[in-house]
Amino acid sequence: MSERIFISPAKYVQGKNVIQNIGGYIKDLGEQTVVIADETVWEIAGNDVVKQVKQENIKAEEVVFNGEASKQEIDRITEIANKANATIVIGVGGGKTLDTAKAVSDELNGYAVIVPTTASTDAPTSALSVVYSDDGVFEGYRFYNKNPNLVVIDTKIVAGAPPRFLASGIADALATWVEARSVIQAGGDTMAGGSTTIAGQAIAEKCEETLFKYAHLAYESVQAKSVTPALESVVEANTLLSGLGFESGGLGAAHAIHNGFTALHGDIHNMTHGEKVAFGTLVQLALEQHDEKEIERYIALYTSLGLPVTLEDIKLKDASRDDIMKVAEAATTEGETIHQAFNITADDVADAIYAADRYAKAYKEKNK
Ligand SMILES: [Zn+2]
Repeated sequence: MSERIFISPAKYVQGKNVIQNIGGYIKDLGEQTVVIADETVWEIAGNDVVKQVKQENIKAEEVVFNGEASKQEIDRITEIANKANATIVIGVGGGKTLDTAKAVSDELNGYAVIVPTTASTDAPTSALSVVYSDDGVFEGYRFYNKNPNLVVIDTKIVAGAPPRFLASGIADALATWVEARSVIQAGGDTMAGGSTTIAGQAIAEKCEETLFKYAHLAYESVQAKSVTPALESVVEANTLLSGLGFESGGLGAAHAIHNGFTALHGDIHNMTHGEKVAFGTLVQLALEQHDEKEIERYIALYTSLGLPVTLEDIKLKDASRDDIMKVAEAATTEGETIHQAFNITADDVADAIYAADRYAKAYKEKNK
């Protein structure tokens, strides 16, 4: 029996306008930061972060992120950070920026401060990054010996982001309990490298419960650019509960299938992480034995949030059986998380992809 392991960031801060206090939270960590954000995010939040940091007499080296969490980009920013003698890496933005910031802080053996500007993925809290090629193809997970030191998420900024981002985060978070449950049932290992704790299980379950209660209200809140208790709960579910829940609860098929999709070319690359995970979750549910009502509960929530549920929705209407097999092969390569939860072949995965597509089409037909 393997050890039970639970890991988490040292501190998590969430609320309206909390970015205005960020200087106070990091002032004891050091004197030189490197701040990473892409061009758009500099305007939305990056400049504010630098202002707050400087108010505490901490220096900031500003870097514009080029858009891909690739080895080349990690090396480029590490060099800039080294030249500036930075000991604190502050990543501001979406999943790929944050994953890059974690990698750079690992290279420097420094502190990682994560400032998500959307609640679109569960990347912020974990001690791992997903690394892609410069063309956006999944290359692998990169594991670190510690989680971020600080995560600061300002819900006012999240409420101002496009609703599609929140919906993507909800989809990513809805996978959490589905995947953790399958790993627990199969006795597999989690991303933290041991078996699931009671805490990890409880967090993953609570994540799903929160989303089925509040996801829709939160989505409407963001349409109105309003911070509400429903939005606060969903931001916590998407970021903290999903982050802890996937890392210490376990990843199964949904994320492996997501990773498989990145192996294809074409319009699918315009889908967000969460959108691909939404379809991956339906495929995992199709691999398991659930009744119609249970599967439709997910399809109903996804469709109400504008999330993709069919192959056509994820721009794969014209995909050949060969393409789908390519996804299935990639999802079942050695070391993929699917093996922590299932004893299956690529052919089984391909069948489930077609089945999930049909289930969703039938649901849409019925609810026209
Ligand atoms: Zn994810």
